[in-house]
Amino acid sequence: MASISLQRPNFLNSPFQSPASRRIRHGASPQSLRVTASSRSSFDVVVVGGGIIGLTIARQFLTGSDLSVAVVDKAVPCSGATGAGQGYIWMTHKKPGSDVWDLTMRSHQLWHEFAERLTDQGLDPEEMIGWKKTGSLLVGKTSQECVALKQKVHELTEGGLRAEYLSSADLFLKEPAILVDDDTGAAFLPDDSQLDAHRAVAYIEKGNREFATEGRYAEFFHEPVTGLIRSDGSSKEVTGVRTLKRNLYGKKATIVAAGCWSGSLMHDLLKDSNISVGVPVKPRKGHLLVVENFDSFHLNHGIMEAGYADRQSASAPGLGVEERMLSISMTATMDTAGNLVLGSSREFVRFDTEPDETIIRCIWERAAEFFPKLRDISIEEFIRNRKVRVGLRPYMPDGKPMIGSVSGLQNLYLAAGHEGGGLSMALGTAEMVSDIVLGKPSQVDNSAFQVKGRCC
Ligand SMILES: Cc1cc2nc3c(=O)[nH]c(=O)nc-3n(C[C@H](O)[C@H](O)[C@H](O)COP(=O)(O)OP(=O)(O)OC[C@H]3O[C@@H](n4cnc5c(N)ncnc54)[C@H](O)[C@@H]3O)c2cc1C
Repeated sequence: MASISLQRPNFLNSPFQSPASRRIRHGASPQSLRVTASSRSSFDVVVVGGGIIGLTIARQFLTGSDLSVAVVDKAVPCSGATGAGQGYIWMTHKKPGSDVWDLTMRSHQLWHEFAERLTDQGLDPEEMIGWKKTGSLLVGKTSQECVALKQKVHELTEGGLRAEYLSSADLFLKEPAILVDDDTGAAFLPDDSQLDAHRAVAYIEKGNREFATEGRYAEFFHEPVTGLIRSDGSSKEVTGVRTLKRNLYGKKATIVAAGCWSGSLMHDLLKDSNISVGVPVKPRKGHLLVVENFDSFHLNHGIMEAGYADRQSASAPGLGVEERMLSISMTATMDTAGNLVLGSSREFVRFDTEPDETIIRCIWERAAEFFPKLRDISIEEFIRNRKVRVGLRPYMPDGKPMIGSVSGLQNLYLAAGHEGGGLSMALGTAEMVSDIVLGKPSQVDNSAFQVKGRCC
């Protein structure tokens, strides 16, 4: 994997320290160079941000319309939250009837169709995008959690999904690596899936680049956007963006999909105008451990502890180490390469992306409470084979992304704030953005995601 990232993960000096060679670089694929459409600077759509949201939006315009698209990123794809994502395409921890339910359902349908299309083309979805239909297990370890899980299974079934409650014995049969006792149980959703964010991004980028030959696509990486271009200099019509190197014009739309940077970026872009759009997206740091060459046990499913949803709200700025523990929920998957991927943490520490050894140790210890065989692995072996990914989730205080036009500014749109569900919601979001820009009826009611009324 080539390239660099502004948000490169690295390691602290501690007994857990890894050699520099173990660093994961959140770069894109080797082809991650700018695809030039000659020196063209005028497009129909300019997308700011080349994370999963920006790239899938570009893909949607390219495949679903005849518009031309430019993607501009201050770094490269996968340098933001996307490169750290675990890849759950899950409904297990979602609530039927919640604002994000329909969008997530639609998005998952589109991911499934995406994977099926690959198969139809004779390609292997697992190889192309890391797609695995493993099913998901949401595991409870107390009798109260198991009662809640039974209720959850009921609600998910009522919501139209296949879901089943597993007693400790049934759970053990499905996933023998999990420690079970009488108070253990799980919600099982056989249709949940997972993907590999890096592979999916590389595949989507490759598809987008095929439109470059027709002059419909270009990407500009390592080019931070620094300003908005408005017709007549100050009118309300946005006609593109300024980067450090050039002006990029978007005749029909400029879409800000800059993840956790969307709030500060919008602030900077509008600071010289009399328009104020306070986008409340803020960074929520997350760590993920990747244990390579893992052969102590195999996981048949994606796994998450039942407290995951509660812990989403347990982290707050200024907490001490003990409280920060609360922000850790066990998540475990095996990726396409057979690596064990363990998560995850949630913290508000502004834009800090330094790996934190305390958090890394807590994630490992939390995982060992569920998978006791991990305790047999020596620290040395763990250090030798581990990689750490750190990413900043785009957190929204009201728990749902902002998708829509920015009021007061014509042709400017936002698609940001997906927190821990951006991979899962990407294709649905891209479809929604495209429908809004093209004035088509939306597949999913978009009113809950409107920007209007949610800025501060
Ligand atoms: C540890 C962890 C685990 C996760 N697991 C999952 C999971 O299992 N399932 C799931 O669905 N989601 C998961 N997520 C969440 C998911 O990764 C995010 O919701 C998603 O990646 C957000 O995508 P994005 O494109 O909005 O943001 P990003 O990927 O952060 O992309 C934003 C882009 O904007 C660019 N940018 C910023 N400022 C500028 C500027 N001024 N000019 C130009 N470009 C700019 C950045 O360089 C970046 O590339 C996880 C996240 C973390 C951290």
